[in-house]
Amino acid sequence: MSKSKDCGDWQWQWRHRLAGLTAIGDFLALSEEDLARRRAAAERYPPLATPYYLSLANPTDTADPILRQVLPDPAEIEARWTADPDPLAEQADSPVPGVVRRYPDRALLLLTARCAVHCRHCLRKRNWGRRIEWNHGAADQAFDYLEKNREIREVILSGGDPLLLEQEKLQNLLERLGRIEHVAVVRIGSRLPTVMPQRFTEDFCEMLGARPGRWLATHFNHPRELTDESGLACRRLLRAGVGIINQTVLLKGVNDNAEIIRELGLGLLRIGVKPYYLFHGDPVAGTRHFRTGVRRGLQIISELRGRVSGLAIPTFAIDLPGGGGKVALTPETPVVIPGQPGGDEDFLFSRLDGEVCSYGDDGSG
Ligand SMILES: *Cc1c(COP(=O)(O)O)cnc(C)c1O
Repeated sequence: MSKSKDCGDWQWQWRHRLAGLTAIGDFLALSEEDLARRRAAAERYPPLATPYYLSLANPTDTADPILRQVLPDPAEIEARWTADPDPLAEQADSPVPGVVRRYPDRALLLLTARCAVHCRHCLRKRNWGRRIEWNHGAADQAFDYLEKNREIREVILSGGDPLLLEQEKLQNLLERLGRIEHVAVVRIGSRLPTVMPQRFTEDFCEMLGARPGRWLATHFNHPRELTDESGLACRRLLRAGVGIINQTVLLKGVNDNAEIIRELGLGLLRIGVKPYYLFHGDPVAGTRHFRTGVRRGLQIISELRGRVSGLAIPTFAIDLPGGGGKVALTPETPVVIPGQPGGDEDFLFSRLDGEVCSYGDDGSG
């Protein structure tokens, strides 16, 4: 098989995806020794990747940022870490099957467990290999819920990768969402611009952008992932009227320094993509070796502030365990309300539930 990343259309990429350590090891010409140390982790969490994404890697570099995201690491199963497979309690926040609702105005639909690449840092590793598919029964129940809950203004399509759904199914789903008057925004979370950008044909992009209020949240973690192909995919999406934002996960050994986050942010802006969130890794079982510590993220943001366009700087955030929601972290000081001359100052914080609370130096709440 040719290693060229130009090879083929998206069907070709999908058909030739490399499933399992042996296939990936052959493609990258990894040594027997290297494969042997990865085998147990590969059995627990089976690897999967497109030829395109693997072609971005440099297999001779043991610290390669692409390889770290796709190759099983012994640390995934060694870590004596009592981590939860579902730390964000998505199961608990699910009013009907396939729907996660944590905020009054947004609902997230889990449409499939399928992905084009198994990211080693995946938040939903627990679902790998499970057959979660959007079928008629689930769809009717979910739509019934969305129609009845009129405060839901935005629906987020997630998975797995929702853009791996059959095109006809996806189109039906989008049209059906379009008929719910109170749903003004549809956000699609997909890693395909990074791992299978060939998917974004003109036709496909036009279908996605057929109505206003369509956004795509993609997942680039490293500037190496910004290629001509991914740039073209974004260009077509934008031309079709789809807004694009990017979510990056802060990953030790992949992107945990200011220079890489800066280069990524500037590269994204160049192709019309707004860096949205930089997430601290969630405490998901099998991903501990990627965790950087919260301070690392704060330090990166503070190194970028004032040095690069604010447009290029994502919001550093943690998704709190137990369904606590996302909190934004900033290294900057909060808003200070001066007190009476000689008196105490007040600090204003915005709480998760939207309430503004003041925090006084004198201890007043
Ligand atoms: C992340 C998330 C959202 C979206 O949050 P934003 O801050 O609007 O990006 C919505 N619902 C759930 C369940 C989420 O995990």
